[in-house]
Amino acid sequence: MKKSCCLALCLAFFTTSFLSAQSPNDTVFLRRLSQEILRHGKAYDWLRELTKGIGGRLAGSANFTRAVAWGEEKMKEAGAEKVWLQACLMPHWDRGGKDQASIVRVDGKKTTIELDVLALGNSLGTEKPVQAEVLAVADYAELEAKKDQVKGKIVYYNYGFDPGQLDPRKSYGLSGAYRRSGASRAAKYGAVGIMIRTLTESVANNPHTGGMSYVDSLPKIPAIAIGPRDADQVWEMSRNSSLVVKMHTHGKFLPDAPGHNVIGEWVGTEHPDQFITIGGHLDSWDVNEGAHDDGAGVVHTLEILRALKALGYKPKHSIRFVLFANEENGLRGGNKYAEEAKAKNEKHIFALESDEGGFAPQGFGFTAKPDQMAKIQTWLPYLSPFGTDVLEKTGGGADIGPLNRLLGTTLAGFVPDPHKYFDHHHARSDVFENVNKRELLLGAVNMAALIYLVDQYGL
Ligand SMILES: [Zn+2]
Repeated sequence: MKKSCCLALCLAFFTTSFLSAQSPNDTVFLRRLSQEILRHGKAYDWLRELTKGIGGRLAGSANFTRAVAWGEEKMKEAGAEKVWLQACLMPHWDRGGKDQASIVRVDGKKTTIELDVLALGNSLGTEKPVQAEVLAVADYAELEAKKDQVKGKIVYYNYGFDPGQLDPRKSYGLSGAYRRSGASRAAKYGAVGIMIRTLTESVANNPHTGGMSYVDSLPKIPAIAIGPRDADQVWEMSRNSSLVVKMHTHGKFLPDAPGHNVIGEWVGTEHPDQFITIGGHLDSWDVNEGAHDDGAGVVHTLEILRALKALGYKPKHSIRFVLFANEENGLRGGNKYAEEAKAKNEKHIFALESDEGGFAPQGFGFTAKPDQMAKIQTWLPYLSPFGTDVLEKTGGGADIGPLNRLLGTTLAGFVPDPHKYFDHHHARSDVFENVNKRELLLGAVNMAALIYLVDQYGL
């Protein structure tokens, strides 16, 4: 009893000593910051320009190059003191045509049931269509149990989101294993192609693409995602009947293409040699406008710069605003940024990424030390008026991950409401119309507030 009392007192002291170290002006400034973004924010207009004016912008495509030029211009418009392009070579995967698949035989009888499909990103197509009997499995355990039946077949993985899972990001993590590695897992036993259930709980029949990779020593077989309703049909029919599917995809790799991270810098007044990074990725898949993924992260980044500038803020630390190249199918931009920071011996104290969509804010996830986490928790009262409820102990982002691995940088990932994100993620429906202006701007408010607190009080 005594011990826990003492602990409570210590905690109370710890908490108030952090809070009392903060000026009451913080509340006033954060309110002004939120008003600046909500009343005068440009993020939504910029998102429309990026999605409707340029559209899908896969690494290596002409649209990606256009997006880099656009990003450079917007970075200047938002008020960056110094803007530059950081070159990196990117993989250049091209879909090469319309992806097709149909059920052509059921129990030996000819039929044609078209399936709505998309080749998985980085998968290789074939000269001629691949036609084979389907081996449908629920998961990898069933694949292993039936490995003697795989040779010469097209393997279909039915592994979907678990509707009982409270956080759909966890479902995505689990089912993502089939998209990323399903082809080589099946090729190892002689499969000639794979199909996966699209990674979503949506009942729209949209297939979702997304990155995969092959094990180099195994045959590189074609790989597609099937729209959810068509996936239901394949799974149900395969339970009682033998199915033959014909699939034809055309994916190929062209030589690596030159690409760029767009970087805007604002030099700090007290610690110019200590960096805070904010970023999102400029590339997207080819089948949509990349509005939530990750146009939202791009315009969040630009908006935070614009709003802080508009209020005449003077950062203590140097802040970098980064639009990363090639997150979706190579991560070359994120790697390049961290490698160059390490080569130049830069001190990166904090990085914040937005790559989970433009939905209403819920909070942030951190990769931070326990004492930093304790300090961050004391900021919750400043953030909660704007919608932040949760400051999780895990989180970050793909593009800023290398900063943590190479330099030990503390990371945060912006966490918006995750419940609708996977309806659109990597699907044709990830378009401007599915982003809400108010939700998008509120995301920028919360991110800007966190950046302000880190800049003022450090970690
Ligand atoms: Zn993304």
